[in-house]
Amino acid sequence: MTTEATGMGVPTGTAALQESARRHLWRHFAPVGGDDELPVFVRGDGCSLWDTEGRRHLDALSSLFCVNAGHGRAELAEAAGAQARELAYATTWDTAHPRAIELAERIAGLAPGDLDRVFFTSGGSESVESALKLARAHHRLRGEPSRVKVIARELAYHGTTFGALSATGLPSARTPFEPMMPGGCHVPHTDLYRAPEGRDPLWAADAIEKRILFEGPGTVAAVILEPVQNSGGCLPPPPGYFARARDICDRHGVLLISDDTICGWGRLGTWFGAQRFDLVPDIITTAKGLTSAYVPMGAMIVSERVAEPFVESGEPFAHGLTFGGHPVAAAVALANLDVIEREDLLGHVRRHEADLQAALEGLFDIPIVGDVRGAGYFWGIELVADQATREPFSPEVAYELTERVLGPALRRRRLICRAADRGYPVIQLAPPLIAGPEEFAEIGAILREVLTEAAAR
Ligand code: PLP
Repeated sequence: MTTEATGMGVPTGTAALQESARRHLWRHFAPVGGDDELPVFVRGDGCSLWDTEGRRHLDALSSLFCVNAGHGRAELAEAAGAQARELAYATTWDTAHPRAIELAERIAGLAPGDLDRVFFTSGGSESVESALKLARAHHRLRGEPSRVKVIARELAYHGTTFGALSATGLPSARTPFEPMMPGGCHVPHTDLYRAPEGRDPLWAADAIEKRILFEGPGTVAAVILEPVQNSGGCLPPPPGYFARARDICDRHGVLLISDDTICGWGRLGTWFGAQRFDLVPDIITTAKGLTSAYVPMGAMIVSERVAEPFVESGEPFAHGLTFGGHPVAAAVALANLDVIEREDLLGHVRRHEADLQAALEGLFDIPIVGDVRGAGYFWGIELVADQATREPFSPEVAYELTERVLGPALRRRRLICRAADRGYPVIQLAPPLIAGPEEFAEIGAILREVLTEAAAR
């Protein structure tokens, strides 16, 4: 694929595609225009992607934490085609169709507790947006219309639509769009690496209660937490964190939302990340791995208790999305769940997560490797100026390191992972759930080269 334009105005060669992308493709979270080295992917199989130059890249991020079952699954493509031929579209508004019904029942069977009602969306932001609106509407129907605030954690990413953004705790994502939707409050995240010695490990959970009391319990609708927080670099909770958070929410009449956009569908070795930590939330928000990203789909999964006021009053939840429960997406999701079950991908993750951890911990001899943390197939490596004292890099150096040194070097070595500077400079890994020791060895070897070079600089 190196020939230039076809003569019909359709670019095909690498340079022509890159040039067309610079002019027309507005990429997300990326500078508009310029990227001379933009990889353009044309094919995927398993844990690999190939670019227009025929080069293989190892996908150690499931592309964007989403291709859980791996690339190139003909079965999922066929499920989409068959459904589009049979029934391309019907709504889940005032009508229904079999695939959405089957999928909702199947998800209810996998979800914890009595989370039995499924509201489909097109992605994670829409799922979070839906949950925040549902929380407000739930309290209003129960006679507490002043419960409108949401408490989330600092640095947490919950999506980009205005409601979801008000829960997002990343200044870089919020500042350009201020003012936010009112009501978003933030509490500390669970940074165990930098926790001062002797501090109560449940300090961060108790901070949720302090904030509820500060705001006034009668004004707080929901708390939203990721099972393992993505931004900040795969921050796991300390033992007991979610039990404490559950108890706090119950005592103050606040709904607890588990944002499983990344942590669901086997990422942590369980169907939902909440299950990994024995949490039964009131609402789960999810997307990404539900279809292994073969088509877009998200979902909000709701407990009977939260649904009850709507059932009893007959009031509809006045919220909807044209593509929620799309038949093609639902058919792909069902086929994806078949794959995950048939190949026991949850068991595979649980059996091999220690191998992934060991491959990353094997890098501790490199002086800038500070912490390795995560769960399942979701891991982050925090980079530090001084391993012994855990001294962080200055913001300028952290930016230089992730954006100018590691990002380009990882791209050159064709390892798809994330070098991010969201709070701390971290490298994040979330390989497809089919990955095993062979891929982990390759990941470890490439990271060793790249981090050794970066440390020397
Ligand atoms: N919530 C979490 C925890 C996420 O990680 C993301 C995206 O990465 C979102 C919400 C937003 O999802 P989407 O990009 O599908 O809108």
